[in-house]
Amino acid sequence: MIKISKELFCKVCRKRGISLQRTGGTWISKPFTNWKKAIEKMKIHAKSDIHLLSCEAEMAAATALQEGSVIQQLQQINDEEKLKNRMAIKALILCTHFLARRHIPHTTNFDELIDLIVSCGAEDLKGFLERARLNATYTSKVAVVEFVEAVGLWAEECLLKRLRQASHFSIMADECTDVTTTEELSIFFRWVDMDGQPVEHFLDIVPLKATDAKTIYSALVEFMKDKNIQISKLVGMGFDGAATSLGNTMVCRVS
Ligand SMILES: [Zn+2]
Repeated sequence: MIKISKELFCKVCRKRGISLQRTGGTWISKPFTNWKKAIEKMKIHAKSDIHLLSCEAEMAAATALQEGSVIQQLQQINDEEKLKNRMAIKALILCTHFLARRHIPHTTNFDELIDLIVSCGAEDLKGFLERARLNATYTSKVAVVEFVEAVGLWAEECLLKRLRQASHFSIMADECTDVTTTEELSIFFRWVDMDGQPVEHFLDIVPLKATDAKTIYSALVEFMKDKNIQISKLVGMGFDGAATSLGNTMVCRVS
C-alpha cells in the first residue's frame, strides 16, 4: 500500500522564498495541512507577495541561465559598442591618412570627406557620429589635427623601430626658416633595412636656437638620445651649406 503524504509545500516558495522571507511560514518551512479549505488557501498563497516574488526570482534565474547574467549581457552590449566605436575611429583615421598622404589640406577638407563617406552608406560611422555629437565633435579641426599627430607618432615609432635594428646609419640634415621665422633643422636618416635594402626617411623637424655648428650638433645629439638611437652606429653625415655645419672650428665634424 502506497502511503500518500498529506503535507504540502509550495515548490517555488521553498526554493526561492526562504531567502526572501527568512521567517518562513506555511508553504515554505511549515507544511500546508488545512485540506478542508485547500482551494481557497491555495488561491490566497498564489496571490501573496512572497509567492509572486519567488516566481519572479525563479524566472529571472531561468533567463540568466539561458542568456547569461545581467552583467554578462551588459558586458556583451558594451563590447559590441566598443567594437563599433573602434571601427568608426579607424575610418576617421584612414580619412586623415588619405588626406595627409596626398597633401590635401586636412583641416578644411576633413569634415566634408566624412560627410561624403557617411552619405555613401557608412552606417557604423554615421551611428557613431550621431551618438558622439552629443558631447564631442570628431570632425572638428582640433580632432583632425589630433588624428594627424596620432598617425605621425605611429609612423615615427615604426620607422624608429627599423632604424634601431640597423647596424649602421647616416644622417642628413638641413636648416630652414618657417613662416614664423623660427629656425628649424629637418633630419633624415639613411640605413640598410633588415631585408638588405637601403632606405632613406625623414624623421623630424627640430627647432634651433641658432644656426651655428655647435647648436646643430647639440640638436642632433639630443634628438638621437631622445629617440633612443645609438650614436655609435653613426657612420656618415650630409649637410647642405656645409660651411655652417662644419663651423669655423669644425665643431660638428670634430665632435
Ligand atoms: Zn508559493
